[in-house]
Amino acid sequence: MKKYTALAEIQSLIAQQALRLTDLLEYYFQQIEDHKHLNAFNEVFFLSAKKQAEIIQKKIDEGTAGKLAGMVIGIKDNICYQDHLVTASSRMLEHFVAPYNATVVERLLAEDAIIIGRLNCDEFAMGGSNETSYFGPVRNAADPERVAGGSSGGSAVAVQADMCLAALGTDTGGSVRQPAAFCGCIGLKPTYGRISRYGVIAYASSFDQVGTITSSVDDAALLLEVLAGADEHDSTVSEQPVPAYSQTLVPANKQKIAVLQETLESEALDPEIREAIVKGIEKLKADGHEIEYVSFDLLDYLVPAYYVLTAAEASSNLSRYDGVHYGYRNKDAKELNELYKHSRAEGFGPEVKRRIMLGTFILSAGYYDAYYQKAQKVRRLIRDKIESLLANYDAILLPVTPTPAFQIGENIKDPLVMYMEDIFTVLASLSGVPAISLPLGNNKAGLPLGIQLMAGHFHENTLLNLSNSFLK
Ligand code: GLN
Repeated sequence: MKKYTALAEIQSLIAQQALRLTDLLEYYFQQIEDHKHLNAFNEVFFLSAKKQAEIIQKKIDEGTAGKLAGMVIGIKDNICYQDHLVTASSRMLEHFVAPYNATVVERLLAEDAIIIGRLNCDEFAMGGSNETSYFGPVRNAADPERVAGGSSGGSAVAVQADMCLAALGTDTGGSVRQPAAFCGCIGLKPTYGRISRYGVIAYASSFDQVGTITSSVDDAALLLEVLAGADEHDSTVSEQPVPAYSQTLVPANKQKIAVLQETLESEALDPEIREAIVKGIEKLKADGHEIEYVSFDLLDYLVPAYYVLTAAEASSNLSRYDGVHYGYRNKDAKELNELYKHSRAEGFGPEVKRRIMLGTFILSAGYYDAYYQKAQKVRRLIRDKIESLLANYDAILLPVTPTPAFQIGENIKDPLVMYMEDIFTVLASLSGVPAISLPLGNNKAGLPLGIQLMAGHFHENTLLNLSNSFLK
């Protein structure tokens, strides 16, 4: 059982003087200690978190604390927190200290959240099981022999096992939503361009988004409200004003929801997930929402288009790790080319190398048109189709994952099997629309299941309100 599931509970205890921040922090430190075997944290920020707790408690006592006072949050280890290590779970950055704060960190700190540590993830966020981390896999608290999901596996397990109230992750093709589903949490990937990526280690820049993992919709809404909005350091962030999501959270009234038929009919879909989703649909109907099954005939193109484009972007983004500018450097190289080669060969793990090589091939003269250009066109078709659906429906419903959390070691040897696990999450990423993964109870073996909702660009409100009523 989680001790606290929403910030409001904590804040009311603090207001009644029944809880002090330093005790709250000690509680989470103890939880982290008790769940060490899950390997969720790459580092716990004991010193800076304690210092923050004292300062914020003082502000609370003086009545000047920010909106997030009382929130203890973990950040994925690809988000920069000044003067703290940030490794992207890679040997390449094992000793790299963040020289400045990511905008999301600035915004958390400005509202008095306590950052408790950095969370394990797949290396450079490339993976769907947290098994590509240089620091070892994260284990699922529901069954430690199973994966946490990825790439934000540490973020999901930290919330699942009550090691912090909430966590930040990043979602390029499902990395917030899929681990959230595997761990029974709420995972929100906002619209592309809603939240700044300044200070977030890049994987595939036309997809990467920061997202949240929480136990309550209220906290997802509050965090989005704090994190979203224009940033002079990141020109891809939209200038659109940020609604007060946490204030406008109401149970959604009659919404029109499209269920993507082919996703439920997919042979890859686990029968227990299908059954749970059908029950979820019945609940939505009973709540007065209008549900229609619609055809989506592009399902087979999602994973290929996603992997062609993200590998291409990754190969370009990761060219900066050359053993000269950043991170790991081979000590024995005698000349420059050797230095590049050995540093990259030793600093990167196999999955990252696979994608760099694939991406370099895709972008090379002669193959660019056949792969990269073509995948861009496919992306446009997918996006157009989703936009045309969202012109007629408020939301789209589909599974998050084809299966519940699989065994550690089960899929890692076959990249294609692993990539196919992303089939339902890459759709929102290719389209740039917001999507949320909601818990849907457990299967017979006790493993968490999830359901996914997508909405139109910048319609996070719709997702939050629907989620709010769905989970009640
Ligand atoms: N599993 C997907 C991949 O490996 C998604 C990762 C992510 O969203 N960062 O690319």
